[in-house]
Amino acid sequence: MTFNYMNTEQLLTIDKTHIWHPYTSMTNPLTVYPVHRAEGCTIYLTNGNELTDGMSSWWAAVHGYNHPVLNKAVEEQITKMAHIMFGGLTHEPAVLLSEKLVQLTPEGLTKVFYSDSGSVAVEVAMKMALQYWSSKGEKTKAKFATIRNGYHGDTWHAMSVCDPDTGMHHIFNRSLPIHYFVPQPQIRFGEEWNCEDIRPMAELLEQKHNEIAAVILEPIVQGAGGMWFYSPQYLTELKTLCAQHNILLIADEIATGFGRSGELFACNYANITPDIMCLGKAITGGYMSFAATLTTDSIAEAISSGEAGVFMHGPTFMANPLACAVANASIDLLLQSNWQARIKNIESKLNSNLKACANMSGVADVRVLGAIGVVELKKPVNMAVIQKMFVDRGVWVRPFGKLVYLMPPFVISNEELDKLCTAVVEVIGQI
Ligand code: PMP
Repeated sequence: MTFNYMNTEQLLTIDKTHIWHPYTSMTNPLTVYPVHRAEGCTIYLTNGNELTDGMSSWWAAVHGYNHPVLNKAVEEQITKMAHIMFGGLTHEPAVLLSEKLVQLTPEGLTKVFYSDSGSVAVEVAMKMALQYWSSKGEKTKAKFATIRNGYHGDTWHAMSVCDPDTGMHHIFNRSLPIHYFVPQPQIRFGEEWNCEDIRPMAELLEQKHNEIAAVILEPIVQGAGGMWFYSPQYLTELKTLCAQHNILLIADEIATGFGRSGELFACNYANITPDIMCLGKAITGGYMSFAATLTTDSIAEAISSGEAGVFMHGPTFMANPLACAVANASIDLLLQSNWQARIKNIESKLNSNLKACANMSGVADVRVLGAIGVVELKKPVNMAVIQKMFVDRGVWVRPFGKLVYLMPPFVISNEELDKLCTAVVEVIGQI
């Protein structure tokens, strides 16, 4: 049987017949736009249209697309080996990357576990917490606590700590483990702190510390569960509470890691070291699916001295050399760029340009932090309609629910950013 190159119409027919797209109906799918290539901050569609990218492919492509430095890193590595198993073998890209991650992340995170996606990094973090307490003989500590409106991925246990309502994960409720949820922090980033904000969490940890292995949350920026920015003081207080009650703190920095929030890691805003930290998405500059879970010496030592004597996880593509090589190149590129100034510039442009939405009748809130700009509407958008309106204006913006948001590559030019913001303001003004 031969599979011939096809025209766009054939491609779309086969796509519609056979392929599931994320969170999309198989019987009544939304339009998908065929992409021919992408470069810098431009996505080139097969019909010749060019779209300015406002999404960084979901937080990942921070250097834009088709970057010569990242391409070279992949090309050089692929001539050595694309992959090699990590059981019993090691390689330079993985070792170099571990050194970088340990140096860059908050002090005390010294042990690195590589995996293949953000959701798996979260599963790994949760398993680490459980194995830690099991090794310590604290077998009742088997539950997790989290804040509402969080999002941690779509695999089983990651899903169990996502907001049960916004994530629609209540559909799986009969089979999912039940964990503890408290209201999301209400004090916004930059607002004056009020200790009432953490009271529900404090009460929960006080009452249930014998059952709770760890608190898991996205530091400062809650992403897919609502694009909400909360006070760093919440994290500072939470770190203290966790230490007081013998509970581990897992920071899911999969979306925030590598500069997106304005700090290299969002935990830096609160100056805390979590016990376990998950990284993904931008770690490879958006080139490949790859993730890492970092932890401390004491957790690694406890796990290694427990019943199993080892950490019970080992994915086939662990520490994939291509992914490690491109991650090394991406991190170097980020650190050599004036990323803080770039993100400050994006932040101030998003602030000044999206302000125009604030007084529109359908708009509930406009908020900006780092390279993330959010317009929250009063009602959910009609995706089919709004998506086409953006594409017709030559921009790639993919809203969800009531949220229209921009998180462009850090290398975006002022003109491209203006084009994105103008499109958002115009489209929201018209819907
Ligand atoms: N945690 C957070 C905070 C995320 O934003 C995501 C992805 N949106 C994940 C975990 C899951 O990552 P992945 O999609 O790579 O499995």
